[in-house]
Amino acid sequence: MPNLRDMPIKRKLMVIILVTTTAALLLAGIGILVFDSVFFKAQLQNDLRAQAQIIADNSTAAVSFEDEKSATEMLGALRERPHIVSACISRTDGTILASYVRPGAPADCPAASPTGNDSVFAADGLVVTRPIVLKDRRIGTMVLLYDLGEIDERIKLFSGAVLAVMVVSSLLAFLLSSSLREVIATPISQLVRATKSVSETGDYSIRAQKLSGDELGLLVDRFNEMLAGVQSRDNDLKKALLDREAAIREVDRERQRFRFMAESLPQKIFTAKPNGDVDYFNQQWLEFTGLTFEQIKDWGWTQFIHPDDLEENLRTWKQAIATGEPFRFEHRFRRADGKFRWHLSHVHSMRDADGNISMWIGSNTDIHEQKEKEEDLQRANDDLQQFAYSASHDLQEPIRNVAVYSELVAKRYHGVLDADGQQFLGFLSEGGRRLATLISDLLAYTKAGMVEVNPAPVDSAAVLQHSLASLAEAIRESDAAVTYDALPEVYMSEAHLQQVFQNLISNALKYRNQDQPRIHISAIRNGSAWRFSVQDNGIGIDSQYKERIFGVFKRLHNTHKYSGTGIGLAICQRVVKRYGGQIWVESEPGAGATFFFTIPQYAQRVRAAADESSAG
Ligand code: ADP
Repeated sequence: MPNLRDMPIKRKLMVIILVTTTAALLLAGIGILVFDSVFFKAQLQNDLRAQAQIIADNSTAAVSFEDEKSATEMLGALRERPHIVSACISRTDGTILASYVRPGAPADCPAASPTGNDSVFAADGLVVTRPIVLKDRRIGTMVLLYDLGEIDERIKLFSGAVLAVMVVSSLLAFLLSSSLREVIATPISQLVRATKSVSETGDYSIRAQKLSGDELGLLVDRFNEMLAGVQSRDNDLKKALLDREAAIREVDRERQRFRFMAESLPQKIFTAKPNGDVDYFNQQWLEFTGLTFEQIKDWGWTQFIHPDDLEENLRTWKQAIATGEPFRFEHRFRRADGKFRWHLSHVHSMRDADGNISMWIGSNTDIHEQKEKEEDLQRANDDLQQFAYSASHDLQEPIRNVAVYSELVAKRYHGVLDADGQQFLGFLSEGGRRLATLISDLLAYTKAGMVEVNPAPVDSAAVLQHSLASLAEAIRESDAAVTYDALPEVYMSEAHLQQVFQNLISNALKYRNQDQPRIHISAIRNGSAWRFSVQDNGIGIDSQYKERIFGVFKRLHNTHKYSGTGIGLAICQRVVKRYGGQIWVESEPGAGATFFFTIPQYAQRVRAAADESSAG
């Protein structure tokens, strides 16, 4: 018999029901049998005692009168009980008066109990002894022997009955187990089938059928809920997997597109991980350096950077990695032939949806020729500037002499010169004065190109005060109203700022119309710079000249109407650009003009911008 645990539930149920039923019936049968035999024996004893007593009582006369016939007749009544084997009536001396023996039984009289009043189970049956008493005197003894065949018969009868009941009840139990199978085993089998098909097919949409409202029904519900949960998670997972695959395919496509683009560009291109490890160099890089990707990947590229650029290069790169800020950098790379070439690198970070840097991408453009030209140009510019500076500086003295001596001649020899002579002298002295102004403006212009390396913070309000003080005469003459807001501290040379203020305000005074000149100076914060404005209510400027007026010697009026050299705004632009700022004008003819200029807020930026501007 297979282990009960491993049996199918159906059979298990049947076995349990049958075993339980059989055991219960068996125990009940045995109990009944034991109880019946004990009870029957006691009953039999009482019954026989009573019957023996009746015979004993009725035999008193027969014993007294030695009436053997009556005594025998009396005993003959016992014939009705076939299990009485024999019975005897004896006198007190033990002699037998009468006896009854069942046909076929031995003729012996059963041995009477010594007490004369007893019922004892002996080997051959139950011996019942009763005294025959007359007036309280025992005159004889009645004894009978009853065989125990009736008990055996009863046992057989009961056993048969128990067996029959067992057979019938087993049959019933079997039938019952079949219907119980329907109730218990079928839902379980159903559940098992559902579980099996889910595990075999991986299809979480399968549901077990609920067949009952008991614990099994509850189990089916929970199982189905669990399946629903797993199905939903499975769907999510499948969707996530599909999305991920699609994303991977897209990334792959993007990567191929990027690679194709990077390889087809004339520039050198690289990409790096967020921590700065370079993980891609395009073919142009490998061809230029003559090195393999393995040699220059991660931080291996430092080997081809010019030693003079390396420290600054590393510092800039590491700072960008820490801040995520893009940067541009000019440096020299060693070519495969050992020669260094200037490159301009632009490096940008790419961020993911969470704002974290996902990669760096950099392009490196060969600017060697351009750089060389720039350097040549710079040298030529420097030379020219030096020449202009020395020329204007050296010319100042003789020009001043021309002006001074022509005025002296005009004064001393006023009477000697005729009208023409005096007029020519007037031209000479006017020309000398204009030349002196021009030279001095030119000197200012060349000086404007020399920016201080490390400008200190300066209070622009104080600088404006100085400028206004220098222009006090012109302001008074024109009856101008000059107003200004609170002005900030800026990193710039005081002389340069004063130059800008003075040029813009003197222009505002100069290019006035009939109305009283009103000039307003203010500054507002514009990102990381200060934006200054000088606003007037003068003649204004036609929009087509808005850029032209910042050129050297560019004027919109002749000197008769408005004196000037056309250098003032060029100086302003030169100064502002040197500090990394910008200058522009907003104006309508007849509606006044507002000149704006910006100055970056920090000295560090000023320096960087100044370097850049001097390079460009
Ligand atoms: P200058 O004043 O010596 O002519 P600038 O370089 O200062 O030279 O100015 C260039 C030109 O720009 C001027 O000739 C003038 O036509 C125009 N301009 C400058 N400032 C103003 C102003 N505030 N209003 C109108 N026009 C102006």
